[in-house]
Amino acid sequence: MKIGIMGFGATGAAVADFALASGDEVFVSESRPSSSFEDILKRSGNNIRAEFGGHTKRLLDADLIVKSPGILPDEKILLAAVRRGIPVTGELDFVFSRVPRPSRIVAITGTNGKTTVTSLVGKILKKHNPRTYVCGNIGAPLASVAAGITSRTTVVLEVSSYQLEDARTFRPDVSVILNITPDHLEHHGSFKAYVEAKSRIFKNQLPTDYCVLNRDDAVCAGLSDKTPARAVFFSIRRVLARGAYFKNDVFRLNLDGGREKMRVNLSLPGEHNTSNAVAAFAAARLAGAPLSVIKAAAEDFKGVEHRIEFVASKKGVSYINDSKATNVSSVEVALRSLSDGIWLILGGRDKGSPYSPILPLIRKKVKGIFLIGEAAGKIYEELSGAAPIFKSGTLKAAVVAASKKAVAGDTVLLSPACSSYDQFENFERRGEAFKKIVKGL
Ligand code: ADP
Repeated sequence: MKIGIMGFGATGAAVADFALASGDEVFVSESRPSSSFEDILKRSGNNIRAEFGGHTKRLLDADLIVKSPGILPDEKILLAAVRRGIPVTGELDFVFSRVPRPSRIVAITGTNGKTTVTSLVGKILKKHNPRTYVCGNIGAPLASVAAGITSRTTVVLEVSSYQLEDARTFRPDVSVILNITPDHLEHHGSFKAYVEAKSRIFKNQLPTDYCVLNRDDAVCAGLSDKTPARAVFFSIRRVLARGAYFKNDVFRLNLDGGREKMRVNLSLPGEHNTSNAVAAFAAARLAGAPLSVIKAAAEDFKGVEHRIEFVASKKGVSYINDSKATNVSSVEVALRSLSDGIWLILGGRDKGSPYSPILPLIRKKVKGIFLIGEAAGKIYEELSGAAPIFKSGTLKAAVVAASKKAVAGDTVLLSPACSSYDQFENFERRGEAFKKIVKGL
């Protein structure tokens, strides 16, 4: 087939590689002038043809167009494709239409906690079935592992709302929606459309499949009668006659077929992580993992780097890296998870949301705030008065200043509420820089 690929980021590049290996003729079209994946073109012996700096009619010389997540369907070139009757699809549908049906597909979405839950489910299911791929939005695109998928593979997939909005045939055996709060509204247009995109995770499920939903999240709870699959609620707030919950360190799963329980020592900080763990346990169990495997993997799970990650204790002061907290609600979660005596490093590139929701927690738990990056001025205006605020400029200056103020028992927390792009390549580089500075103190 002639495959046109729109967008040449990590996903587009992996789709191009996979299509070429399947014997297709591949053409890639990228709106930016270049892509960090261009080496793939050379590696393909120039068998993948490409255009940069815009999408031209060359893309329309295709039997099928695979568009990268996040590209809006009303792009001029896509409308032209539709007029010409060229089908347009996304990565999930494309890959699953071309590989054997894996023995299990577990797909995880939600506004927050996707990577944490995908990692934990992946860790459990890898112990249960060594032929397990953990992929998707978490790092390795699905297409990058596609060539290895067989009917004995388990696929654990982190899926974003962008990927889901393109899904028309995608059918996981177990779907999970962790929570839904307003996010990416500039892309989806409305909260309703965002919920609609997330709901695509279960749209094609069968009555024999499972859909794991958060009973403690009002939006998720309301989706239970919309899924064709068997809805299984999880909760950390209530006892569920039918569903999964966690109380007094005991995980329970009550289904029509039986009741199970297991004591687990979780070593993850914060209530939100208890909620994440319960969702992961339920999903892994419904995907076939025995309780003993879930317990062993869960007790060994230390969380994911850059998410409320303990870095070091120096002179009795704990240093915590939460560089992934790129929105205000993740900072809220971090502040809730830690005890009083926090020196908080905030800032980076502003994302347009107000900082005021964290004011009550700042008054209660934060001893001082150190501001970095572009957003410093806006944050200063919105949070001044709640705690002493210092304009540090750089991450290094902020960490050094915080280390001088902190006394034994305190915590220095990088949980910036902003994206990193003003001073770093991405949140990973920012978190690594923080850890290096802390180690050098
Ligand atoms: P995602 O992949 O959805 O971005 P992550 O697991 O990477 O989720 O976590 C992103 C941020 O959200 C981190 O700062 C983390 O502490 C916070 N977080 C994780 N789980 C939850 C949850 N269930 N509810 C709210 N915030 C969460």
